[in-house]
Parts: sequence; structure tokens; C-alpha cells
Amino acid sequence: MIVAATHSPEETKALAASVAELTRAGDLILLAGDLGAGKTAFAQGFGRALGVEESITSPTFTLHRRYRGRLPLDHLDVYRLEQLAEVLDIGLPELLDEGGVILVEWGDAIIPALPADYLQIRIRFGEGDDDRVFELTPVGARWSGRSRALAAAVRRWVLEGDSGGEGAAPC
Ligand code: ADP
Ligand code: MG
Repeated sequence: MIVAATHSPEETKALAASVAELTRAGDLILLAGDLGAGKTAFAQGFGRALGVEESITSPTFTLHRRYRGRLPLDHLDVYRLEQLAEVLDIGLPELLDEGGVILVEWGDAIIPALPADYLQIRIRFGEGDDDRVFELTPVGARWSGRSRALAAAVRRWVLEGDSGGEGAAPC
């Protein structure tokens, strides 16, 4: 697990952009965290780095939206457990086969519906109002194989003493 910290929404977007640089077609990223943690902020920075020009929002009644970027970006916001059935209907593996990248907010609810490979990013609140802590956990071979590259990509934000980053700089 890589642990990183940000201190503003812009920093979260920059962190997300660094993760996006490593992303390829068929990748799934799960964003877990309470309301207001910064999942949508992350999605916005991520989308911008993928060349999405539209602004990414968290539409209250839309579970799934596709944005156009360098790769198609499927953004899902699963904020209620009851939406699990809808996610199963959409079929994440089928979506991945379409050659885009999937970003799911509020991942915990959908863990039973997940394919074997994904990057889990859990966002926690830090001490200050604008402090957020990110735990990045590669799950499955697809992301485990990139964990060094991932640690290097987010190195600027990695907390000192964390095992995920080699030569991690203090934040
Ligand atoms: P979520 O999608 O997890 O519910 P949002 O991204 O919609 O959360 O909202 C995050 C809120 O927290 C925004 O109002 C944002 O301005 C604020 N915020 C403060 N500090 C940070 C930070 N370091 N990273 C992300 N958002 C932050
Ligand atoms: Mg959100």
C-alpha cells in the first residue's frame, strides 16, 4: 500500500493526474471514502489528465456517465448499496472490454461486482480541514506489476516512512 497526503483540492487533482499518466485502456480504479473526502475532486483531476474537456460532476441521479478523452472515461458514482444491482447490469468487465478506463466512486458497496484487477484508492480525512490521506492498494497482477511506477508517480505526496515509495520525500 502506498500512503500519500494532499492539502488542497488542487493538490488532489494533481495527484490524480499523476495516477492517470500510468493508466491504460482496460484499467479500473476504485475510489472509496466518505462524502466530501474528495473522490469527485480526484475524478476531475484524473479526467483532465486524460484529456476530458467537460467538467466531471457527481450527478445525483446518474450512476454512470462516459466522458471522451485520450481514452473513454467511464465515471460511476455508486453512493447507495441498492445501486449494486444496476452496476451488475451495466457489467464492469463488459465496459472494460470497450477499451476505456473506469473510475468508480464509493467503491466499497460494489466490491462483490468487481473484476480481479483494480487499483483501490481510499481517501481519509486528515487533521486539517483540507488535509486528505490517500491509501493506494494495487489489487491483482495488472496493478501489482505497476506498483513501483505508481509509487514513483505519486512520490511528491508520499508520506515519509511509508513502505510504498522508495526514497519517499516528506510531504
Ligand atoms: P466526494 O466525491 O468524496 O464526496 P468531493 O470531491 O465532491 O467529495 O468534495 C470534496 C470537498 O472537499 C470539496 O468541497 C473540496 O473543495 C474539499 N477539499 C478540501 N481539501 C481537499 C483535498 N485535499 N482534496 C480534495 N478535496 C478537498
Ligand atoms: Mg463524489
